[in-house]
Amino acid sequence: MVEVALPVPVHALFDYRVPLALAADAEPGRRVRVPFGTRRLVGVIVSRRSEPGRERSLRALERVLDPEPVLSASMMRILRDAAEDVLCPPGLALAAATPPGSVPRARAGLALTPLGREALARGAAEPRSRRVLEALADGPRSRHALRRLGPQATRALRTLERERLVATVTLEDQPRTRAPSVRVVVPAARPALQAALAGPLARAPRQAELVRHLADAGETPLPALRERFPGATARVRALAERGLLRVEERAPARPPVAPAEAEPRLTPEQEAALAAVLEVAEQRRFEALLLHGVTGSGKTEVYLRALARVLEQGRQALVLVPEIGLTHQLVARLRARFGDRLAVLHSGLRPGERLAEWRRLRAGEAPIAVGARSALFAPLENLGLVVMDEEHDASYKNQEGFRYHARDLAARRARAAGCPLVMGTATPSLETRFAAERGAMRRLVLPHRIGGRPLPAVEIVDLAAERALLPRGRKLVLSRALRVALGATLAEGGQAILFLNRRGFSTRIFCFDCGHAERCKHCDISLVFHATEQELRCHYCDFTVPPPELCSGCGAGPTALLGIGTERLEEEVRTLFPEARIARLDRDTASRRGRAERTLADLAAGRLDVLVGTQMVALGHDFPGVRLVGVVAADLGLHLPDFRAAERTFQLLTQAAGRAGRGHAPGRVIVQTFVPDHYAIRTVREHDYETFYREEMAQRGALGYPPLGTLVHVLISGPDVERTESVARRLADQARRVLEPEAKDQAGASPDVEILGPGPAPIARLRDRHRFQLLLKGRDDTRVRAAARAIAREAPSGPRDVRVQVDPNPVHML
Ligand code: ADP
Ligand code: ZN
Repeated sequence: MVEVALPVPVHALFDYRVPLALAADAEPGRRVRVPFGTRRLVGVIVSRRSEPGRERSLRALERVLDPEPVLSASMMRILRDAAEDVLCPPGLALAAATPPGSVPRARAGLALTPLGREALARGAAEPRSRRVLEALADGPRSRHALRRLGPQATRALRTLERERLVATVTLEDQPRTRAPSVRVVVPAARPALQAALAGPLARAPRQAELVRHLADAGETPLPALRERFPGATARVRALAERGLLRVEERAPARPPVAPAEAEPRLTPEQEAALAAVLEVAEQRRFEALLLHGVTGSGKTEVYLRALARVLEQGRQALVLVPEIGLTHQLVARLRARFGDRLAVLHSGLRPGERLAEWRRLRAGEAPIAVGARSALFAPLENLGLVVMDEEHDASYKNQEGFRYHARDLAARRARAAGCPLVMGTATPSLETRFAAERGAMRRLVLPHRIGGRPLPAVEIVDLAAERALLPRGRKLVLSRALRVALGATLAEGGQAILFLNRRGFSTRIFCFDCGHAERCKHCDISLVFHATEQELRCHYCDFTVPPPELCSGCGAGPTALLGIGTERLEEEVRTLFPEARIARLDRDTASRRGRAERTLADLAAGRLDVLVGTQMVALGHDFPGVRLVGVVAADLGLHLPDFRAAERTFQLLTQAAGRAGRGHAPGRVIVQTFVPDHYAIRTVREHDYETFYREEMAQRGALGYPPLGTLVHVLISGPDVERTESVARRLADQARRVLEPEAKDQAGASPDVEILGPGPAPIARLRDRHRFQLLLKGRDDTRVRAAARAIAREAPSGPRDVRVQVDPNPVHML
């Protein structure tokens, strides 16, 4: 029999019998299809053993899906431990870690029964039925395929099923693992193009434009051409008919290996950090090391050297980045050093591409995996180093299903492999900095920028004072100081980044008369106006409505826009500096594949003067030409109902400031805020992480928040308010019962463990579901977790439409 982990919300594994035919294949780590209730599910075999007495009563495996294990024993152990830790059922964790798109999909199909075969052989059926039987003679087909025989055949099919000449069977789709290919547009020889431009194309300007581009650029992948020239496909077809180009299907070229970057001589601080990492690697032991270096201090260079050494030792490495689309430069630098030995895994890959990379890693062709958090599941059995860049980034937390934190899984993998885990950042998360403080990890410090470049000067502008100077109702976007600085930067030929963490034209539609703001009717949060589409959009559920003509609160007053978004900011800058080359980068403009990378490449190459954007522009890019960074509204995130709000704000502002002055000219940063004295803003001005850390730790300590306490977030959601709330109440009572006996020992209430709520979640309604939350908080980790486990156990027994999520390490709490 085998134990199988199934993707169901049950904290258990399931036993199945191994039929004789599958005895050779049913080994741990392979995926199988099994019956489960009335359904069929795909799971992973966790273990196999013999227990003859029980086996007969078990249901049997239906099929073994993988020709070899896709999860190693060590990986399964790690996943199960991590799942237990975040109160996630083991099957969900294992399912999250299996490679994509490689499992044959089962769907219903139709096949001849023995009776049907006989009828066909005898030629007994009438003509319409015979066509159906003949279509099935070579094997089963899907219902859909049979429908193509026409309506009469469909009718005949019903009769055939009733008479049991045809029966339903399960069809296996072969996995779609077709190697990815790209279509490349190959232009004809230059003279032919020139002749065409002078002749027949003179009166076809749109085709001519494309030909001129191809004459310069040479072969171009079709998707790239389409990005650049919307609707290029038709033109490509027309030009192919003229014989001016042809389209070829090719295996995708591996990105070119850039000319090997010259390796700079390391600074003494870099040398020391590298030596520490390599010493651990050589001793083949686990240790977590915090590489705490200001922006531009050469952390990446340390990773690159350490990676090279580990590869020389014949070991493999894992490099984690927050969001790969935004960490293009790190990937480019890795590519420049390691070329083909790199496998890049990210969510933007199509399943086939992702699987191809997975196989290269598995086969040992590529010893380095780089990717966002899901790269943690890369099949590397001989790990010698794990690097986690921008360790503090919130996207390292998985928010759905298996709610792991990449930090935790990275440490588990490094520990299992016996290798160092290097976490690099300029602004360590409080958890990590605290771990270093209490000696759980070593801190390696790079206190200076490379080449003695100064950190940029940060000026704080008080928006309250600035606003007082404006007439009532006028909106404040750019303060005088920021306008002047922007003008000066552009006049000197420098580049600027304006950073506003909020997308859309304005946060909400707000009435000047009654103060009414338009909200999403499903989610109870403010709708955002998008000027391009002229619509209001909900950023949680994507619900849209046209903007109202009149205020829907007071019925009369005109609706006015208040607050600003990136679009409005872009417009303002265009008005002020009509000559400047301006681009905007946010989730809206970046939703198209490759768009963000191109905008950032334009900035790096000096093709842009001003980049306006959300936090996407604040991440670890290196733009030597950027001299000014303006933070338009620093305190936007400060008042969110989340205990990490100050930490997020400090990190974001420091990162944003870090974009300035990385080249030879010194950088300047202007931060606009309504709360200039808040410690999260004041310390950014001084580039003073340590002071921020101490102030923030004092706050956390006073309130028992992590890392000086444990906080468990329980979210209860359902379509019916009362039912949902009553589940929330029941769970709260359950937690109190678990904690009570000990509370009594301590004469009454225990001040060290609190149960907050249930109350409405900050977003009280989302996608038509009412949301309540319950917080368990306290300094006694064991007891808080015991209460959380009790809730997780109790949760599945509630009404079916009420969902309970228990997150013992919440990162976002909205
Ligand atoms: P970080 O990752 O800390 O932001 P980087 O590694 O990107 O810093 O280094 C910043 C810049 O300095 C990069 O352009 C990098 O190529 C360069 N650099 C790094 N180390 C050195 C060095 N030892 N000597 C000269 N230049 C260096
Ligand atoms: Zn909504």
